Amino acid sequence: MTSSNQTSPYENKQAEHDVVWHNTSVTQAERAQLKKQQPVVLWFTGLSGSGKSTIANAVERKLWLSGQHTYLLDGDNVRHGLNKDLGFSDEARVENIRRIGEVAKLFADAGNIVLTAFISPFQSDRDQVRNLLSQGQFLEVFIDTPLEVCEARDPKGLYKKARAGEIKHFTGIDSEYQAPKSPDLHIETSSKSVEQCAEEIVQRLGDLSYLTGNQ
Ligand code: ADP
Repeated sequence: MTSSNQTSPYENKQAEHDVVWHNTSVTQAERAQLKKQQPVVLWFTGLSGSGKSTIANAVERKLWLSGQHTYLLDGDNVRHGLNKDLGFSDEARVENIRRIGEVAKLFADAGNIVLTAFISPFQSDRDQVRNLLSQGQFLEVFIDTPLEVCEARDPKGLYKKARAGEIKHFTGIDSEYQAPKSPDLHIETSSKSVEQCAEEIVQRLGDLSYLTGNQ
């Protein structure tokens, strides 16, 4: 049976009743204790070309160098594997983010500091991921770069193609981007280097006590 608002061809209503959650013997807190850190998902959001991947990579390297256990989930990479069946319609973007949220939650449950780099244009989707995670385990990181700057950078030539009509539903051009209203970290990249942006994020993580024990 299908419902009008069904989001996935694999939806299984029976699972809600018959599949029972099994608590694991080793807890998230115990896994995190071994890693001497506080698990958290750093959810980078911003326009294409704003610098999400570049800054997230720089942050991950800094964290790794200081002995933190991390994992970076990058938008394009995930679309080559887990989400290769999804396109760029609004519905597909919602499902893309839902799956990534669930994966990020698993990595955080393993005690890691997780970095995700996805445009994630809709506030409701980002809020949904926040709600998946425990209090304090989701930080929305707004990589704030004006459209003109992103378009001038155009690292993958995608804006050029979107302006030429070769790519449809391109965020910022013919698909909406909802900027975070109250991001946990607000990084303005236009007047700073990648290094400065990454350092700012690592500093904030330290200030917020996510890095205890390894530095
Ligand atoms: P996104 O992942 O948001 O699509 P990318 O990280 O792939 O963006 O691309 C951003 C581009 O902008 C890169 O080529 C990067 O070198 C360049 N860039 C210039 N200045 C900055 C900065 N301050 N922060 C991030 N990226 C910057």
